[in-house]
Order: sequence, then C-alpha cells, then structure tokens
Amino acid sequence: MTRILVIEDEAPIRDEVVDWLLFEGYDVRGVGNGRLGIEAIYQESPDLIICDIAMPEMDGHQVLLEIRSNVNFAHIPFIFLTASADRDSVRKGMNLGADDYLTKPFTHSEVMNAVRSRLDLKLIQEAQWQNRIDMLNSALIEEHEKNRLKTRLVAMFSHDFRNPLALILSSSNIIRNYEQRITTEQKHYHLDRIDGSVTFLVQMLDEMLMLAELESGNLAFAPESLDITDFIEGIVEEFRLIDQQSHKIVFQSTLNHPMQVDPKLLRQITSNLLSNALKYSPPGMNVTVTLIEKDEHIRLVVADQGIGIPKDSLPQLFEPFYRAKNARNASGTGLGLSIVRDCVTRHQGKIEIESEIDKGTRCIVWLPCSVKSKLDDIP
Ligand code: ATP
Ligand code: MG
Repeated sequence: MTRILVIEDEAPIRDEVVDWLLFEGYDVRGVGNGRLGIEAIYQESPDLIICDIAMPEMDGHQVLLEIRSNVNFAHIPFIFLTASADRDSVRKGMNLGADDYLTKPFTHSEVMNAVRSRLDLKLIQEAQWQNRIDMLNSALIEEHEKNRLKTRLVAMFSHDFRNPLALILSSSNIIRNYEQRITTEQKHYHLDRIDGSVTFLVQMLDEMLMLAELESGNLAFAPESLDITDFIEGIVEEFRLIDQQSHKIVFQSTLNHPMQVDPKLLRQITSNLLSNALKYSPPGMNVTVTLIEKDEHIRLVVADQGIGIPKDSLPQLFEPFYRAKNARNASGTGLGLSIVRDCVTRHQGKIEIESEIDKGTRCIVWLPCSVKSKLDDIP
C-alpha cells in the first residue's frame, strides 16, 4: 500500500489532510514537527511526503535538505504546505528540490491532484529506471558472454593449436633426419599427417574468425535475391567431390524461384550441416538434403543415418567448442553448429535438431522468405 507521511504542526490541518488521504485508501501517518518527521522517514521510508514549512524544532526546509542528501530517500516526492504570504519561502523550497507546493487554505481536490500526479510521476520514473537497469543488465550479460568466448578462444589457441603443430614438427623432423632410412610409404604417411594438420589448423582458424565476426556483429548481413536450389545444389556437388562417393548424397528441392538470403551465411549453414552429416555417418549411408517452401519459410533439412547424438548433449550443441562424447573419434573443433546458429539468427530464422543414437540425425532450418536487411530499416 502507498505510504504517505504528513508533517504539519497545526493539528486541525494535519488531521484533515490525514483523513482525506486515509479515505482515499492510502496508508497515512501524521507527525507534528520536522524532527519527528525525519524519525518517521528513517523508520518507514514513505512513498510521498507532505510537509509544512514553518514548524518548531526543525522546519520544512531542513527536513527537505536532510532527505535530499540521503541517497535512500532523495527520490521521495516532496510537497510543501505553505501560507500564501511565504513566496520567498516557497522559492527557497523549490530550489532545494521540492516537487510541488500547496498554498493554505487548500481544497480536498487540490491535495488529491498534487498527490496523485506526484505518485504517477514516481511510477513513471521508477519504470524508466527499471528499464535502464534492465538494459544495462543485458548489456553486461552480453559483454560477459563475449569475454567468456574470447577467453575460450585464447585457451583454444594455446591448447588445440599445439597438437597439430607438434604433429607437423615431428613428421617434418622425421622426413628431414631419416630421409634415407624411411620407406616411401612411411614418407607419405608423414606428409599426409602434415597435410591433415595444416588443413585442420586452417579450418579451425577460419571457423574462429567467422565466429568472432558473427559474435562481434562486424559481419554485415547482406541478403540478396538468390536461386537457392541452384546455390545449394552447387554446395552439395562440392561435397560429393570431397566425399568421393563414400556416402550417397541425395538432393531434392521444390523451390523454383529466387529468395532473399545472404549467400555467405547460407553457405556456412549448408556446408557445416552437410559436413557434420558426412563426418558422423559411416560410409555407405545416405545423406539427404531437402529444400521446400512452407508457411512463408524456406525449410532446409539435412538428414543422415549416422551415429546420432546422445539426448543429454542436445541442449548444448550450439555452444562454441561443445562436442558430444560419441563424436570424439572424428576430428572437429565444436565451432560449426554455433556458427550455423548465428547465421540462422541473422536471417531471423530458427534451427532444430532431432536425433537418435545409432539411427541418425535431422537438422531442420527455417529461414523466413522475406527477411529484411538492416539497410531496409533506414528511412
Ligand atoms: P567443427 O567445428 O569442425 O564443425 P564439430 O563437428 O565437432 O566440429 P559442430 O559442428 O559444432 O562441431 O557440432 C557439435 C557436435 O554436435 C559434434 O561434435 C557432434 O557431437 C554433434 N553433431 C553435430 N552434427 C551431428 C550429426 N549429424 N550426427 C551426430 N552428431 C552430430
Ligand atoms: Mg561440425
């Protein structure tokens, strides 16, 4: 309940104001001088104070000075009661930070209007403060997230870059120092190790840069009109070449007109999902890429018949560096899906992953057909 404190030495006036306010449903307390008023403020921290100026022991100006200098009470709305002749007094009070004043004799409606408008203003101010606090909080959380990612990127650099670098170093040492003693087969084995490690390092570096660009918001979102069927079929064809028919990659699409998408981001989405589907399914299995238009969305589904994802890992898949236990035999950094998620979010789309261990995984991406670029928002 809203608490109001009335500080007034003239008992009839004080009682009248207290009664009016009680009748309106406020929780009201009346006291007879400034000193008692300050005590009541410290005890009850009222929502509004109505205070006479000329009073024994401690006058209204002193009361106002005291509460405006205390951070806990400085925001409480303060209304002066004053005799009509007290113009200088009123000016002094307003300069000290009073919110309003009522000149004696005042009517019931004058008091109520002043009280209501001050309380309404207080509510608005509190909502604005809360808004600002919420904005600051979310900015803080966002900054904290970015810092967490940076810390992990640095840790990743120092840890995961060491292994492939050590492999490159050891294989190149063997080739250089034992060139005459190793067989051609062994030499190829070491050269392959060097190639594989360099590819892994380049991939990791590319993914980190992509993720850093996405997370920092530096990557411009640039949708353009694109024949998505052609575009994705092209990516599927690239993967067929890399996969060397180890899997049967099926592509089907019912989309036959151009759509607004960001090609760079769509390439990231498709190639990461396709690379996962191939990497996490045994040779000979089918991988299907399906493209349809439904409910004003493009729906891209990449499905495999591979190792699947443990149920308890599903909620963490989009966290940078997360890799499920059953995936650790295959090489990877755990950054792919977080890049996919960011690219999908940039399109104001969504992604879902359904999976069953040893049965397979389906990644479903929805991208709205009419997606706006930031430039479109500028009038
Ligand atoms: P990279 O950064 O090289 O892509 P990654 O493939 O391990 O590494 P993500 O693509 O982010 O990383 O995938 C995260 C994890 O999700 C994988 O490590 C794997 O555990 C699981 N996962 C993703 N797709 C599949 C899939 N099709 N089948 C089984 N597990 C998958
Ligand atoms: Mg991946």
